[in-house]
Amino acid sequence: MSLAIALLTQDLRLHDNPVLHAARAAADEVVPLFVLDPDIAAAGFAAPNRAAFLADCLADLDASLRPLGGRLVLRRGPAAPATARLAAELDAASVHVAAGVSAFAHRREQALRAALGDRLHVHDGSLTAVVPGSVTPAGKDHYAVFTPYFRAWSQAPRRTIHRPPKTLRTPEGIASEPLPTAEPESPALPPGGERAARRLWRRHDLDRYAELHDDLAADGTSRLSPYLHFGCLSAAELTAGALRHGGDGAEAFVRQLAWRDFHHQVLAARPQAARQAYRDRGDHWLPEDDEECAAWRAGRTGFPLVDAGMRQLAHEGWMHNRARLVTASFLAKTLYRDWRIGARHFLRLLVDGDLANNQLNWQWVAGTGTDTRPNRVLNPLAQADRLDPDGAYVRRWVPELAHVPGRAVHRPWLLAERPAGYPDPLVDPAALSERLRGARGLD
Ligand SMILES: Cc1cc2nc3c(=O)[nH]c(=O)nc-3n(C[C@H](O)[C@H](O)[C@H](O)COP(=O)(O)OP(=O)(O)OC[C@H]3O[C@@H](n4cnc5c(N)ncnc54)[C@H](O)[C@@H]3O)c2cc1C
Repeated sequence: MSLAIALLTQDLRLHDNPVLHAARAAADEVVPLFVLDPDIAAAGFAAPNRAAFLADCLADLDASLRPLGGRLVLRRGPAAPATARLAAELDAASVHVAAGVSAFAHRREQALRAALGDRLHVHDGSLTAVVPGSVTPAGKDHYAVFTPYFRAWSQAPRRTIHRPPKTLRTPEGIASEPLPTAEPESPALPPGGERAARRLWRRHDLDRYAELHDDLAADGTSRLSPYLHFGCLSAAELTAGALRHGGDGAEAFVRQLAWRDFHHQVLAARPQAARQAYRDRGDHWLPEDDEECAAWRAGRTGFPLVDAGMRQLAHEGWMHNRARLVTASFLAKTLYRDWRIGARHFLRLLVDGDLANNQLNWQWVAGTGTDTRPNRVLNPLAQADRLDPDGAYVRRWVPELAHVPGRAVHRPWLLAERPAGYPDPLVDPAALSERLRGARGLD
């Protein structure tokens, strides 16, 4: 009997899982392994919202494996020695893991290689629809601009989508830690796991996506981001499904999945972009994390759309993409604070908090990343009129303004009677780009 270990990381699913597929093809018995790595917690990535979501994902995966004859084995400790110990205990012929894009994933892979030698098999194509680095402009290792990337991405060859296994034999008697449990910080966190992900995907109205995805009150995006982050759904399968479905909605949705791949290929090529400016603009951000940053975090800037977004984040551990753009621009451009202050806060709360998508979107907004218009400032008032024309999104999230009808809700300082308990604007609404313009010498 041969035995393979499938070391699962950000691929917590049975459907279209290249790692499980390869492990099954390689051996008679497969041990699906998840290692709770203290280095992830030490780096601040085990924030309560994601820890709670992860606990759901692991429980769901174990429950799905059992009827097939398998189960999830859980170990604690740095991933490489914990995996190598299990491989030695079981005399495993091979260990399979998905390729990652972060510096952490690269280090983990090196440590696994050092411990396991050629018994380690690293599989591409698990995390993204198109493998990072597989499409590149001539003479470069990654695309720095989305539009040409998207063109190349759209024509890139696609791998076969794997069916979920019908059976999977895991030997009895392997010691496993109990599956983790964790309390989320946000009261309205979605449930984790592959089954929840597939239910959501089945219910998502792809045909109306193009029409609704920028309408904040309609909440018409898929909300699949946390499931993609933990790999409860495969980006390759989603892309293939949407392309098969066809139509404007599916096309717009696939474009967003390509943005996800775009940021992953940037991070794979430039892991340091998680912490340092991708393109240094010589910024001298206003000093430190003070009351203005605290007001931003608390959703008390006096700009209703910004505050609505920040309160949605606190309550759900998730925020609509358009609100992320507006709130991030407000911190990095209007308040002219270091994007890392905002990225850190988002990573603390976002259930989909993801190094590639979070840090590189923050850099895009701050103008230190891949945005081709680095000095643009999103005006939260103009954005509110466009994305929340009736004010319903703001009224949903800012109870102090729930009685204000229509779009007047976006400018409470103009109301005859100031809403009780709601703050005055933190900066002059007529001078939203002043600090950035001054700092970058644009005047
Ligand atoms: C400042 C900022 C921080 C962000 N941080 C994260 C993060 O930590 N994790 C994260 O997954 N996304 C992040 N995003 C991207 C985007 O806001 C979310 O992916 C999206 O809101 C998730 O909602 P959805 O699943 O309903 O998206 P949909 O509109 O249904 O899109 C489908 C999928 O496409 C991907 N996608 C959509 N928009 C983007 C984008 N701009 N960049 C990359 N991928 C995208 C996501 O995986 C998403 O689930 C951030 C955006 C900004 C502006």
